Amino acid sequence: MELRVLRPVGRLAPTPSGHLHLGNALAFAACWLSARQSGGRVLLRVEDVDRGRARDDIAAAQRDDLRWLGCSWDAETEPQSLRDYGPWLARLSDRTYRCSCSRKDLKQANGRCDCPTHQLEEGAVRFRLEPGVVCFEDRRFGRVECEPASFPDPTLRRADGVYTYNLAVVADDIADGVTEVVRGADLLDYTAVQIQLWRAFGATPPTWLHSPMVVSTDGRKLSKSHGDIDIRTLRANGWTKERLWKTVLPWIGLDHVQTLSDAVAHFDPRAGRDEIQWVSGES
Ligand SMILES: [Zn+2]
Repeated sequence: MELRVLRPVGRLAPTPSGHLHLGNALAFAACWLSARQSGGRVLLRVEDVDRGRARDDIAAAQRDDLRWLGCSWDAETEPQSLRDYGPWLARLSDRTYRCSCSRKDLKQANGRCDCPTHQLEEGAVRFRLEPGVVCFEDRRFGRVECEPASFPDPTLRRADGVYTYNLAVVADDIADGVTEVVRGADLLDYTAVQIQLWRAFGATPPTWLHSPMVVSTDGRKLSKSHGDIDIRTLRANGWTKERLWKTVLPWIGLDHVQTLSDAVAHFDPRAGRDEIQWVSGES
């Protein structure tokens, strides 16, 4: 009898539309530590499904930042821009419909329009959420109950033919054999929507860990578009890797370790604060 031990598989999945910032460093650290602690594999996947926003120079800079941070990966999987999501969408044909509404129409209809009853030939493809509560266990926040139908039906392919992150991330995680997803807590409630997609594909959802959010002093999520400090700028300002981890690791309860590899033995997904306020002047 063949005995196979399944190793956990995590993934670092940067979107190359802006440089990595401290919030990304925190989520990637949690992802990397979780996989390494359990002897699992770490994949790198470039989430460039939206070619209009993705930039190759930023993808290259993100790889460079990840290497500098010491977030190593065992394999790089195919970037989203090279994948064909057509067959994946076809598998969901029982649950999808065409929608010709504008963003404004949908807002006025509270995300629920009557397009499903018209069997349109054109328009965006949306996924029909089922009513009912979805429960899942988050490794940080514990048991989470959420009603996916409190969200609008997610768009899987836009009217211009571009597949969306909603479809791509689930299809990729299934195709890549990902067993643990680690990402920012801003996506915690939306996990229920993604679980419905996993189940519609007949796949077993991964484990979930939502890492603490890093926000600016006015409570916003860090983002390049608001001019928040990114890792490249910190590096250019003379920050060392040690200084960066000395700042970031205590946010997830790792106060007395100097390096990412030293943190492996001490990582606890439940430790640390729920939200971290980053004061720009600290750089
Ligand atoms: Zn519609």
